[in-house]
Amino acid sequence: MDKEFRIMIIDDDVHLAATIKSILDGEGYVTHIAHDGQAALDMCQGMVFDLALVDIKLPDVSGIVLVDKLLEIQPAMEAIIITGYAALDTAVEAVRQRPILSYLTKPLNMDQFLAFIRQVVKRRRAEKSQRESEARLKAIFEAARDVSLVMTDTAGMNAPILEFSAGAENIFGYSQEEIIGRPIGMLHALDDIYVQPPEIEAIWRCDEISPREATLIKKSGERFPALLSTYPVNDAGGNMVAVVGVSIDITERKQMEHAQKYHANQLEDMVGQRTAELKASKDVLVKEIAERKKIEERLKESYEKEKALREQLETEINKQMQFTRALAHELKTPLTSILMSSQTLGNELCEEPLRSLAKNISRGASNLNDRIDELLDVARGEIGMLQLKAEMLDIRPLLQEAIDDMDTLAASREITLIAELAPSLPLVWADEVRIKQIVLNLLNNALKFTPEGGRVCLQAGSKDSKLLVEIQDTGPGIPDEERKLIFDLYHRVRVDRAEYSGLGIGLALCKSLVVLHGGDIWVESNEGEGSTFSFTLLTESAESTN
Ligand code: ADP
Repeated sequence: MDKEFRIMIIDDDVHLAATIKSILDGEGYVTHIAHDGQAALDMCQGMVFDLALVDIKLPDVSGIVLVDKLLEIQPAMEAIIITGYAALDTAVEAVRQRPILSYLTKPLNMDQFLAFIRQVVKRRRAEKSQRESEARLKAIFEAARDVSLVMTDTAGMNAPILEFSAGAENIFGYSQEEIIGRPIGMLHALDDIYVQPPEIEAIWRCDEISPREATLIKKSGERFPALLSTYPVNDAGGNMVAVVGVSIDITERKQMEHAQKYHANQLEDMVGQRTAELKASKDVLVKEIAERKKIEERLKESYEKEKALREQLETEINKQMQFTRALAHELKTPLTSILMSSQTLGNELCEEPLRSLAKNISRGASNLNDRIDELLDVARGEIGMLQLKAEMLDIRPLLQEAIDDMDTLAASREITLIAELAPSLPLVWADEVRIKQIVLNLLNNALKFTPEGGRVCLQAGSKDSKLLVEIQDTGPGIPDEERKLIFDLYHRVRVDRAEYSGLGIGLALCKSLVVLHGGDIWVESNEGEGSTFSFTLLTESAESTN
């Protein structure tokens, strides 16, 4: 606050004016002297004064007339007339007519004068401070555009509105002119969800603790949620003379609360749903785990059973193998001596028919020896113990040898046995002994089933980067239904069973050996025309492409 207090001293008594100035300067006031009315008026144009001390008798104008002129220029200024006893009545009359005028009488008692001036200054300062405070309050009242400030007297809901701020106009839509004097209750919704009429009454009596949520009504009839506080206004004696209601529109906040609530509910629903889903999946999982456990137990049981069976089977196989070996040994031991003795006998004897008989015994014993070897091979094959000593080799000599071996038998049966081998045969991956065994077996069968005067042909050549070996005969052929079974162990063609001896193991053994070599074996036949047995072997090029 500006503490500076400006005083104009207007007196034609130079000495008195100077005395007053020095006293007032000593008090800290700012003083200026004018010795006549005109000088005072001039000074007043350029400077603002709080107080004028005016001699009632000036050389150019009456002090009272001057005061009126000065107040026209500066209406907020206060004036004190200094008068002698002669003009006292005039001064008293002038003060009575003007509210901001007082008087002092000459001769001045300086103590009283100072006390008087101090009092005036004090009052003026208090008034000024109150004016400023009111102006600030008014500014606040008008500045808050989003806050409604409404003032009523204390008569509750029917109390007439005394003040209605710019913010209130903005929020409620009423102008001050149309709302002032009307009851405060008209701004409230009586079916408020937040507060009921008795409570509204209490709020406006300031009985209620505020702020509270309330539903208020605009001029348009639109309702809106608001936060409402009421404050009592008391006079100096502590009596409530008015109530100020402060309210703000909380529509947005409420909308946000609703949105939040809505989302929270949605979230809760989703969480509930997800929890139910999880529970359901958990139940399914638990069930699946239980079932899996059962399956695992069953599998374990099966595995244990299978293990036991496998062990049993291995024991059986071992037993069978031991038995077969023992049997082969038991059969081969006497057979060897029969074979050797009959061969020696055949070579020693010169007379017929003894020599032929000895040769017959030797041939029979040799056949029997081959059968026993075949049986042993079959037994080995069945338990996976048949092994090859394979290498890359040229099988042309082997094939030629097989033809040579069979020549005598073919000739004895007047069968033409020929070999048609391609000029160059690829090397094959083969066990020489086993391949010869296969070829001899197939040639033997061909010669066995081909009638006298027939023809057996051994062919060999490349086919699809493999070696193809074929044995063709002009025998009876093999019926369609038998062809599929002919490579099965112990299978023999029905019509041949009575006429030809055999166990039906030769072709089965051939198949096992060919498969062990990585090849295929098959038969093509036309009944009454003959059969062709074919098998393939892997060649060097087939090896590298594999
Ligand atoms: P086995 O050792 O008893 O001769 P195989 O397995 O060699 O038995 O032959 C099985 C059967 O296939 C023979 O009994 C025969 O009926 C038939 N078979 C084999 N080769 C020929 C062939 N070249 N022509 C006609 N039938 C054949």
